[in-house]
Amino acid sequence: MQELINVTRTHLPPLEEYVARLEEIWSRNWVTNYGPVVQELEEKLKQYFGVKHLFYVGNGTIALQIAIKAAGLKDEIITTPFSYVATTSAIVWENCIPVYADIEANSLCIDPAKLRSKISARTSAILATHVYGNPCDTHAIEKVAKEHNLKVIYDAAHSYGVEYEGKSLLQYGDISTISFHATKLFHTIEGGAIITNDDALAEKISLMMNFGHSAPTQFDELGINGKNSEIHAAIGLCMMDRIPMLIEKRKLIFAIYDSIINWEQLRKPVIRENTLYNYSYYPVIFKDEQSLLKVQEALGAENIFPRRYFYPSLTKLPYVTEQQAPVAEDIANRVLCLPLYPELDRENISRICRIINNNC
Ligand SMILES: *Cc1c(COP(=O)(O)O)cnc(C)c1O
Repeated sequence: MQELINVTRTHLPPLEEYVARLEEIWSRNWVTNYGPVVQELEEKLKQYFGVKHLFYVGNGTIALQIAIKAAGLKDEIITTPFSYVATTSAIVWENCIPVYADIEANSLCIDPAKLRSKISARTSAILATHVYGNPCDTHAIEKVAKEHNLKVIYDAAHSYGVEYEGKSLLQYGDISTISFHATKLFHTIEGGAIITNDDALAEKISLMMNFGHSAPTQFDELGINGKNSEIHAAIGLCMMDRIPMLIEKRKLIFAIYDSIINWEQLRKPVIRENTLYNYSYYPVIFKDEQSLLKVQEALGAENIFPRRYFYPSLTKLPYVTEQQAPVAEDIANRVLCLPLYPELDRENISRICRIINNNC
């Protein structure tokens, strides 16, 4: 039986480091409710991203939901059809309506030129994803938003470690959200964060993520339980220093894939200029879906499992009204994320490339 190769493999920090953190938690017997480990993680992440407010929450999906609620969004939110389902489901869960603007064929992020025609009197915001950590055209998006008095939220789930125009990608928008799920580059097994530089939004978020408590017996907002635990935060503290090393290793794997794959029939998304990338995903765009399926089957036969990420286009979800987004639908049918994690060795990368080259 050949070794199993998945699209990703969770990186866990050295167990001794984590156990040392656990021993501190045990000695305090303070396991959740904004304990010292969560506070330390929030401080370190705030410094690292260079942002004013950051709230560590249970996952990237509740981060989106609280962001939508805190920003007071109603009715229509213009969003991208090419993202993970959570970007749209959070909108619908908060009783808003997703209106899709199609994506740029190169960056795979929302196309600012497609925004204006989607704006109506009912539009309250733009919610865009930095797809695979590739920055949206933030300037063009924010220009349209400003003209129409719309809030901008970025689903920055993939954006840890990305710099755009010399600063963290997490600094953009009225609010950015991020996921720290085990499949992401930086993770706390489950987790996420809500980031803003706006004091009034920050105040709302901090109340909303903790049941609306402003004091032990006082509730100033409608809230939910968005908190995360000391046990999860401790993983994050053990992971943080390891990320630069992990990014370096991923960058090497990128270079190997880049050099061995036969690009005649394939292409990759184009990373926006002035980006310091985090090498979080290795998506390949096939010439058509048939050729993708053929490669996927050939890889599967060798116990190699890339992921159709993102598929299908969110316009196809059963709980949204039908809308057209031809570029997103086309790309979603043809894109495959190849295995990418630091332990993937050259031999296996070559084997994956060989199977791809032989099948398309
Ligand atoms: C992972 C992801 C999410 C959801 O984050 P969770 O922490 O798994 O809830 C949302 N949006 C995008 C683009 C993601 O990739």
